[in-house]
Formats: sequence, structure tokens, C-alpha cells
Amino acid sequence: ATPTAVMVGTGVGASQGVLIKGGQALESAHKVNCIVFDKTGTLTVGKPVVVNTKLFKNMVLRDFYELVAAAEVNSEHPLAKAIVEYAKKFREDEENPIWPEAQDFVSITGHGVKAIVCNREIIIGNRSLMLDHNIAIPVDAEEMLAETEEMAQTGILISVDGEITGVLAISDPLKPGAHEVISILKSMKVRSIMVTGDNWGTANSVAREVGIETVMAETKPEQKAEKVKELQASGYVVAMVGDGINDSPALVAADVGMAIGAGTDIAIEAADIVLMKSNLEDVITAIDLSRKTFSRIR
Ligand code: ADP
Ligand code: MG
Repeated sequence: ATPTAVMVGTGVGASQGVLIKGGQALESAHKVNCIVFDKTGTLTVGKPVVVNTKLFKNMVLRDFYELVAAAEVNSEHPLAKAIVEYAKKFREDEENPIWPEAQDFVSITGHGVKAIVCNREIIIGNRSLMLDHNIAIPVDAEEMLAETEEMAQTGILISVDGEITGVLAISDPLKPGAHEVISILKSMKVRSIMVTGDNWGTANSVAREVGIETVMAETKPEQKAEKVKELQASGYVVAMVGDGINDSPALVAADVGMAIGAGTDIAIEAADIVLMKSNLEDVITAIDLSRKTFSRIR
């Protein structure tokens, strides 16, 4: 392609909300034959909401959510925001609730949070966080988790003073058109893979709904990047699509990093292409544009 064609290509992209950071990014995109998708905020809307709560101890929902929110209000995680939002519903001061002070707040990346609230030790997160703290998961809690995951929702465990007290079900629906985008990519001979920090049960259910066959769950940020490198080593030209801080190493490692426009600044910074409208269809727009630009005869 001539420099003019590349300029036209990036210009057309920009006019459609696909920000391509330079000619190299536009060129690489036409060779892509494998795309690694993050789940939360990329394949899903990324606005999780609490849809169900189950308590296993004799506790009032309002008091339960007060402890939970007091801990989670210190976290930046989208799941934490969903939980605090939901907890407000149990309050009279719903608009601007004043939560009890949390002491010794710790955020454990990819697992959850812990804090001392009202002299009680609160631990909120996934199975492995509980295992790490030697907290037994009772059968009824495990059942609730399984049901939740089967419905492609995320189950969050809550421990109070070392005992599982409740499970929350959080739903984050698929983006509209997600399934269609994956099947169009298939017809374009592009393989799709999903990587997520979420648990295997939820990950498999989401993948099934969206039509992705290869899944990697319970991954750490470095593992997402390693997966990209592994695919490259086996001969694929890889694009990574993600929105989170935890996707940035993989966005950098990929031949083409594509960030969701509504994502974190760090992901946008790390990417070669930014999908300004946060639509998944624009993954195809970007590849199409690159194919058109680079298949022209010089
Ligand atoms: P993703 O890749 O889906 O964005 P993360 O790596 O951020 O996921 O988190 C993985 C898992 O850790 C979540 O699905 C959740 O179970 C747990 N987790 C992380 N942060 C929190 C939090 N603030 N509160 C509760 N659970 C959390
Ligand atoms: Mg994400």
C-alpha cells in the first residue's frame, strides 16, 4: 500500500470511530488469524449488577450489605461497584450512604478484597481467596455458586469472621451482537479465544453463549500475555481485544492490541487500535479496513 492509501485507511477508520495509531497497526491487522478476547467489559457489557443474594447465617440483609459495602467501597473493581450500588437499596440514606469505616483494607488482584469492618473480619471474593484463608465452603454455598455459573453469572463468596455468610450472584450480560461477531470472524477464517480472570464455570457458560470454543479462565494478567505469545509461537498472527488494566500486558504482546474505548486509560495507552464506540463489530471494521488497504495492487 502507498503512504496515501495508509493515510486514507486510517482516516476512514477515524471517521468510523476506529482509531488506528499509525501505519504499522493498520498493516498488521490484515494478517490477523486469531483473536484473544477478554470477557468482562469486552465480550460483556461490563456493567455488572447484583441479581441474587443467599444468606447462610442468621443475619439481616441490611446488616449483611452494610459490612460488604463498607469493604467494597474501597475497591475500584467493577464487581465492587456493582455490590456497593446494590447495597444502597437497603438504606434510608440511599443517595449518599455513609458506610462504617473499614480498617486494614487489602485488595487481592484477581481474587477479591478483605477488611475489618465493625470489628469483624470481612473477606469477599472467589473460591481460591477463601481457600487461601482456610475458609471452608459449605455445600449449600457451593451449590449456589454452581447454579450461578451455569447461568453465566459470577458468584461472589462473603466470609464474616472466617465463616461463609452469603453468596452474591452478579450478572453482566453479553454485548449485543457478540455472538454474531464471533461467527463472522469464523467465516473470515479468524479463530476466537477467550481469556478471563473469572472462574471456569462462568467463563465456560459465557463462551458457550457467545460461540467461542477455546477458553482460559482464572488467569493472571501475565498469563493473558503468555497465552498471546504461545499462540504467536505456534504461528498465529494475534490480536488481543481488552479493556482492563489486567489486559495491558497482553495488548502490548499482541501483534495488534485493540482497546475498548470505554475501557481503562492504561489499556487504551497500551493498544495499537482503539474502538472508540466500544462496539465489538468494530473489530471486524478494523480488519476489513486493513484487508482493503493492503490487498490493493501497488
Ligand atoms: P476479569 O478478568 O473477569 O476482569 P479479575 O481478574 O479482575 O476478572 O477478577 C477475577 C475474579 O476475582 C472475579 O471474577 C471475582 O470473583 C474476584 N474479584 C476480584 N476483585 C473483586 C472484588 N473487588 N470483590 C469481589 N470479588 C472480586
Ligand atoms: Mg475486562
